[in-house]
Amino acid sequence: MIDKMFIGGRFVEASTRETFPSLNPATGEVIGQVPRGGKADVDRAVAEAQAARAGEWGRMSALERGRVLMRIAQRILDDAEELAQLEALDTGKPLTTARNDIQVLARYFEFYGSAADKVHGEVIPFLNGYTVNLLREPLGVTAHIVPWNYPAQMIGRSVAPALAMGNAAVLKPAEDTSYSALYIARIAQQAGLPDGALNVVTGLGEEAGAALASHPDIDFISFTGSNEVGTLIQTAAAHTPVKCVLELGGKSPQIVFDDADLERAVPVIVRAIVQNAGQTCTAGSRLLVQESIYDVCVSRVAEAFARVKVGTPDMDLDCGPLMNAAQRTRVQRYIDDARAAGVPVLAEGSLADGLPAGGFFVRPVMFGPVAPDAVLAQDEVFGPVLSVIPFRDEAHAVAIANGTPYGLIAAVWTENGGRQQRMARAVRAGQVFINSYGAGGGVELPFGGTRRSGHGREKGLLALEEVSTTKTVIQFHGE
Ligand code: NAP
Ligand code: MG
Repeated sequence: MIDKMFIGGRFVEASTRETFPSLNPATGEVIGQVPRGGKADVDRAVAEAQAARAGEWGRMSALERGRVLMRIAQRILDDAEELAQLEALDTGKPLTTARNDIQVLARYFEFYGSAADKVHGEVIPFLNGYTVNLLREPLGVTAHIVPWNYPAQMIGRSVAPALAMGNAAVLKPAEDTSYSALYIARIAQQAGLPDGALNVVTGLGEEAGAALASHPDIDFISFTGSNEVGTLIQTAAAHTPVKCVLELGGKSPQIVFDDADLERAVPVIVRAIVQNAGQTCTAGSRLLVQESIYDVCVSRVAEAFARVKVGTPDMDLDCGPLMNAAQRTRVQRYIDDARAAGVPVLAEGSLADGLPAGGFFVRPVMFGPVAPDAVLAQDEVFGPVLSVIPFRDEAHAVAIANGTPYGLIAAVWTENGGRQQRMARAVRAGQVFINSYGAGGGVELPFGGTRRSGHGREKGLLALEEVSTTKTVIQFHGE
């Protein structure tokens, strides 16, 4: 475990020499100390990023940049097991999930590495005697503030496209999960990424995070996390002012019509909410079921849900613990409040025997029917809690699906082709899955929110537009 920050190609302590502890969520035990970076460290990191832009990194051809990213991808794959073990220790997630996360992380560097020399400008027809070139250029210094739920994946998603376009990045990992970020920084350096092109400032959100978001010399902010902090980030960005991409929360619906292939749908529906213990922005936390199939569908989902098991990373079951004590308390309160309010429990998962007493485990719960406007059906619980809501017809399903402040992703389960297309258009979301959900990491697929789920796009080639800008060069040369 690397216990130093990474600034300008060197592993360093915080300028104050202060640290804070990082816990293992499966045991509640301290696994190590992390430097508590602050404004002075962010200042240094931004200065190093600027120097990298002005130096070797800024001069590197797109081809060479792409090769560096591809080498980072290969190094990640070479160290995949070690990285997965580290990520599982730091997040508590099952090893299979952590292993998958590392594959997706490598895939981001591979995808954007191979795209680096394929993004090009345009020639725009204009008046006779003129040539107009539209150049595509990096923004400069990009800031990346990421959450703890998929630390490695989030770094790949946020940082890889920025580097591919030639930006120099300053990354602030979540305070609960710094270790994979530091490991990735070391791998990147070994793969030939010039010093200063990627800096990692560890620390607390209100210290290092706030200092980074409000730094006068950054040119862009990519933020993934809660709506509350997203508002702070956008406010900070407004003062500079710089562009920001916000990936915030969700309350994503799984919409099941009475002609759905339940055989295929049921395991996917359960996985969509229990994966990563429900701590997924795209968690399928609302199950909308057509009334005509309600009893059959609910009993089959409940049966599968009741088989969900919670354990430590090594046990490698369906769910791990929640990230920290505060998160556990928050999720358990939603569950307790719903029970106290008399919302029927349809199924519960179980805790494995012999779990460490200090781990932040909760039992997954499936509630239903839940009123569409109930707290449980409106708030992002960010835990393994599924709310089932009946609906009558397409119009009713759309009204319920769109009836939260969020709009991140959605799934529609039906064999009717016309309905698939109508629903895909009517549902408010950045991604709509038809007869599937969250397939294969989706590195290639543009992703992001509408409404309170945020704005801007990550993943896919569209992400490259977010982390670059254009310059229109108008040249008069005569006819
Ligand atoms: P969070 O508290 O918003 O934290 C996200 C990041 O922001 C962390 O690195 C955090 O640092 C930092 N931060 C906190 N306060 C800050 C401030 N004042 N200024 C600058 N940075 C600050 O979110 P979380 O609790 O980690 O994650 C849970 C939430 O994130 C959920 O609501 C979930 O929906 C959302 N999320 C969304 C997506 C998506 O793609 N749309 C993905 C994952 C999570 P510290 O860790 O030090 O506090
Ligand atoms: Mg930790």
